[in-house]
Amino acid sequence: MGESLELTSRQMESWSASDIVLWALDHYGDGLWLASSFGAEDMVLIDLMCQKTPHPHIFTLDTGLLFPETYDLIKTVEERYRVSITRVVPELTLEEQKARFQDALWQQNPDLCCQLRKVMPLERFLQDKKAWITGIRRDQTTVRAASPIVGWDTRFQLVKINPLARWTYRDVFRYLVAHQVPYNPLHDQGYPSIGCVPCTRAIRPGEALRDGRWAEKEKTECGLHQ
Ligand code: SF4
Repeated sequence: MGESLELTSRQMESWSASDIVLWALDHYGDGLWLASSFGAEDMVLIDLMCQKTPHPHIFTLDTGLLFPETYDLIKTVEERYRVSITRVVPELTLEEQKARFQDALWQQNPDLCCQLRKVMPLERFLQDKKAWITGIRRDQTTVRAASPIVGWDTRFQLVKINPLARWTYRDVFRYLVAHQVPYNPLHDQGYPSIGCVPCTRAIRPGEALRDGRWAEKEKTECGLHQ
């Protein structure tokens, strides 16, 4: 499977994101899920998927710590596209996490917090799925620079598809504006990348697009994409 996916991925370098999404739907059908954090890239993918199928499978990792604007956008998407978004939640509530570990775990140990609130729930959720789609773009981080368009995700043991791998942030917004796709209003307030409230701030002049995530820490990824 590895070799044939590698070949397919190379061929897809010249495909449109729309054709890649269609290919994924044709190949994986009901086993295909779009992971959405409701960032700008995910809004493009939601729009593309909803054009291709009346019953898209979309999920979000609801850590319980998302911005109110993000929760509002989830509802907007459900109404506009007439879809139901699956909320994947952590095993521990915030209160339970506080009791078992410590208050505001994200300050002292953000890796453990992400593990509990994002990675483990994702692992459980993807267990019986065939493929997932993500909004990864190669120019987001050095870790993401080598992302294939399609490949085997060894971390979660299923096929991973990144239809926007070749896109720039400008391409994303060009699409959102041209297709009048709703997006998180925080993007217009200096938040190009949006995660949980305690670990996201607006970027400052001269900072890179993801510098507002875990800003004063070494951490740059949740642990979902390796
Ligand atoms: S982004 Fe921050 S608050 Fe959210 S799960 Fe990770 S460490 Fe916890």
